[in-house]
Amino acid sequence: MKQKKRWSDYLWIAELLYLCLGLFNILFAWLGMLFFCIPLLVAIVGGSKAYCNRYCGRGQLLGLLGEKLKLSRNVPPPKFLRSPWFRYGFLTFFMIMFGLMLVSTWKVFTGAPLSETVTLLWVFRLPWQWADVSFAAPWMAQFAFGFFSVMLTSTILGLTTMVLFRPRSWCVYCPMGTMTQGICKLRNGRKAKSCGGTGKTNCGAAQAPRQ
Ligand code: SF4
Repeated sequence: MKQKKRWSDYLWIAELLYLCLGLFNILFAWLGMLFFCIPLLVAIVGGSKAYCNRYCGRGQLLGLLGEKLKLSRNVPPPKFLRSPWFRYGFLTFFMIMFGLMLVSTWKVFTGAPLSETVTLLWVFRLPWQWADVSFAAPWMAQFAFGFFSVMLTSTILGLTTMVLFRPRSWCVYCPMGTMTQGICKLRNGRKAKSCGGTGKTNCGAAQAPRQ
């Protein structure tokens, strides 16, 4: 029997909308803080990976593109991607880059000029001057440029691994998934498996058998 759709099954639309709004005006990048804070809050307060398993628009979008639109090769991701050293190493790298983004925001707050660029994959700087940010404080605009860079970069990585491997291969090394899984483990101790992780991947959905 076909399962009835819940509102939470359509959160992939929120993910798409977020990316479009960011292209329209970079200040919408601030909304991405919701995608950052909600999974952490769910893990800290609830001790579960409910966000990953049910409410993550990005995970849903990758699943839809890979499974429904058949854009994925649907082969298992390489072993190294699932290894703890890679997942925690990638999380560390991601957090260092996030920290550098906060430093840039602080510099603009203290008088440095605003850099109106979006940086893809931490290397490629794209001029991004079409958005009117004059009504916001320069540091707010700088944070938006940095945060949207992070979101676009992780989207590109997610799409690339979706095409090359299984649809939700990004979930295997997603920094948010690694963090929430770590929080679950700390909170639940040996019962960590009940929060969706196996110690090898970040998200139960990433391991679901694919047709
Ligand atoms: S691992 Fe990341 S992308 Fe995957 S469902 Fe969790 S938060 Fe979303």
